[in-house]
Amino acid sequence: MEFKVEVYRFNPEFDDKPYYKDYVLEDFPGMTVLNALINIKSEIDGTLSFRRSCRSAICGSCAMKINGISKLACKTQVNPEIEKFGIIKIDPLSNMPIIRDLVVEQEGFFDKIKEIQPYLMGKSDVGEHVDDFHALKEGEKITQPVFYKSEFRNLTGNNDTPNCILCECCYSECGGVAGNKDYLGPAALAKLYRYSEDPRDNDKNGSRLVNGSKPNRMWDCVHCQACEEFCPKGISPVKSIVKLHEKAIKNSINFSNGAKHIISIAKSIGETGGLDEIKVALDTGGITGLINDLPMAFGAGLKGKIPPIRLKLIKDMEDIRLAYKILDLEEK
Ligand code: SF4
Repeated sequence: MEFKVEVYRFNPEFDDKPYYKDYVLEDFPGMTVLNALINIKSEIDGTLSFRRSCRSAICGSCAMKINGISKLACKTQVNPEIEKFGIIKIDPLSNMPIIRDLVVEQEGFFDKIKEIQPYLMGKSDVGEHVDDFHALKEGEKITQPVFYKSEFRNLTGNNDTPNCILCECCYSECGGVAGNKDYLGPAALAKLYRYSEDPRDNDKNGSRLVNGSKPNRMWDCVHCQACEEFCPKGISPVKSIVKLHEKAIKNSINFSNGAKHIISIAKSIGETGGLDEIKVALDTGGITGLINDLPMAFGAGLKGKIPPIRLKLIKDMEDIRLAYKILDLEEK
């Protein structure tokens, strides 16, 4: 069967603007999109640039947008794509500058991974002057039963965060990064959670959680769930991020607006069963935050959405109190 591949092309040395170039190929059983690209490069057009390496969904190099979704080209078969879309349309990943054709600039992504200190902290990393940086002694090595029980491994029952291959598919699909280029993104935050849960890590003072609670980090996730939906390794970064929120609040690391917001919402519902929007805005951003929210509040007021000054208790308040008791939320 013949099929059409439409590929994003841009070489800043020669092109004023990006364009799409069409190629017609003949498929073979089990042909992947990466096979198609290699075929184009070796047989038709040697100028096409794209990353690839292992061809086994292990290295993460060949991530790109295939018919609008960030995927690994080596793991995506041609036939199902043609059946669904009638064409293979290929674009570079989103949320990253384009260097040339399908090759994106990865430096920003890896700088963000570095920010979360993606290694086990030795005692010297946390201020103790012991020369044991990274090198784990025999007794400190993780045992298999401990590893298999580890929280960070079991969020989706799929080995989870240790399986990340840093392919950037989640980063490309992330609504948080799309809206804020400084946001750390799902892969880095999943790694932050993975190290914060590792029993071998020497960060006993929660410095990872403090670091992760700063602006543009864990509290800036917009919970769009795209990272979970599009990760080719079945990892759920958003579940890691929610776990990070829980850990930060349990450890009283509450200085960020995100933590203050969650605590205030929980308090409001625990007290009245409803959401005291004025109080939540005040608790979250203080007087300045409240003033900044005024235009939005004014707009909502014009549409008849005026929050009550004082909330009434809801009818089933006892059920809420019971739920809070069971969940041990009363004091939080
Ligand atoms: Fe890729 Fe999944 Fe890791 Fe994100 S979490 S970088 S999608 S393997």
